[in-house]
Amino acid sequence: MAENKETIFVIVGASGDLTYRLLMPAIFRLHQMGQWLSPVVGYAPDAWDDNAFKEHVHTGLKEFVPSFDEKTWDTFSLLLSFQRGELAGKDFEGLSKAVGDGPAVFYLALPPSLFGTAAQGLADAKLNTALNGARRLVVEKPFGHDLASAETLRMQLHQGWQEEQIFRIDHFLGKETAQNLLVFRLTNRFLESIWDAEHIRSVQITYAETLGLEGRWRYYDQAGALRDMLQNHLMQLFTLVAMDPPATWAADSLHNHKTEVLRAVRPIEPSEVDQRAVRGQYLAGTVAEQAVPGYLQEPHIPAQSTTETFAALKLWVDNWRWHGVPFYLRSGKRLARDYAEVAIQLKEVPRGLFGEGHENWLIFRMKPDEAIDMVVWSKEPGLVLNTRRRILSTPYRRQEEMEYSAYEQLLLAVLQGDRTPFPRYDEVEEAWRIVDPVLQAWAHGRPHGYPAGSEGPSQQDQLMQSGIAWRHLLSNPSD
Ligand code: NDP
Repeated sequence: MAENKETIFVIVGASGDLTYRLLMPAIFRLHQMGQWLSPVVGYAPDAWDDNAFKEHVHTGLKEFVPSFDEKTWDTFSLLLSFQRGELAGKDFEGLSKAVGDGPAVFYLALPPSLFGTAAQGLADAKLNTALNGARRLVVEKPFGHDLASAETLRMQLHQGWQEEQIFRIDHFLGKETAQNLLVFRLTNRFLESIWDAEHIRSVQITYAETLGLEGRWRYYDQAGALRDMLQNHLMQLFTLVAMDPPATWAADSLHNHKTEVLRAVRPIEPSEVDQRAVRGQYLAGTVAEQAVPGYLQEPHIPAQSTTETFAALKLWVDNWRWHGVPFYLRSGKRLARDYAEVAIQLKEVPRGLFGEGHENWLIFRMKPDEAIDMVVWSKEPGLVLNTRRRILSTPYRRQEEMEYSAYEQLLLAVLQGDRTPFPRYDEVEEAWRIVDPVLQAWAHGRPHGYPAGSEGPSQQDQLMQSGIAWRHLLSNPSD
């Protein structure tokens, strides 16, 4: 069902890479599926007119949308127009006219240093309110680079925009597996009764990439793995696992529960950073049978860079539900395998009638395929009463079922005004509070080296509580 066709969707920074590779392809696909009929106004400083903008978008769609077809383009291109301008109030006058006084979304596809300026410029031009409909502001990642800068950005945005108008993108929340984590957890009766410290031994959240910098060196060398992946994406997955069930599916109810569990995370004291966090930087090695250079040998990277390309954290949640359960989060580049999962390790039964070592796992796999696996035990067929490990596995979708990208999900949610998959500011703030002491400690010293193509620095093992080990990246998904 096409939604909100009267809402005007403005992309501020429409000549950039994000618009070209991710936003326009997602909007086009939604249009192809009959889900998007809203006009799209591109806004950028480039000396383009409508036709030049359309030509630019057309080229990108042909490259990035495998299902691209000219017939859909004919109707899609009618939705597109372009306004030239910078971010000062006066420049927004033309945009004001184009947008009118109805509902509109302003998507800031800009360098993060310009989020505040753009939000203020739009508000100064009175684009933040409308006589006949809602005005929304979409802010890309990263939201700040530490707690203090996130707070500064919040204040800038809140000068002209209400929190309810602001949609912060964390594209992991648009991933189906992330959404399914909550659905699976909260619709299966047998899970809630074991979802606590009495039954769960540990939780491991892993996002491993074989990729290196892929041209993102300018951003990445400033950010590093902790800011790029853990503070936002993996922390969001963590909240979905650890939060209490909300009473309703209303956005604020969900956000309240997410914030509450983030607040319950025990602060990492400066003196214990080494026991709670590990960082690494890849050295030269072999990935997918290809020799690759180390991080410091990558083009443009300063020879002394201390940016971490691997980060791991151990979190404790100081509430009744999770007392004593370690949560492990890790992510890295140039690792052995493209693999991502949320793995819940259960405690063994209180008395092992058939020997020890009968651990159950519940695994939400995100990469390379989306699936849910349960590691269980059964009797080995035969005359002797032996046990054997079995995997109950279900792929997330059937082969014929459509796959929606995270941006498709999130763009539609913005149009519909659904704030559930967008972190509220207090969630972002708490996530920065958790990682800030680690960032401060990591401003000194160097990361541990790890060979490209390995499982990351061996020092990550030091985070594990006695009797718990990281799941191996190289074994079969559910081993
Ligand atoms: P780009 O640098 O490619 O594009 C930025 C856009 O902002 C361009 O349209 C640029 O115009 C415009 N711009 C720059 N300076 C000004 C200014 N002073 N006044 C008005 N417009 C200006 O960035 P990306 O598209 O890569 O990224 C945009 C946002 O998306 C960033 O916050 C990034 O972190 C986030 N993001 C990007 C991803 C990606 O894969 N690219 C992935 C996830 C998030 P011009 O072309 O004239 O310079």
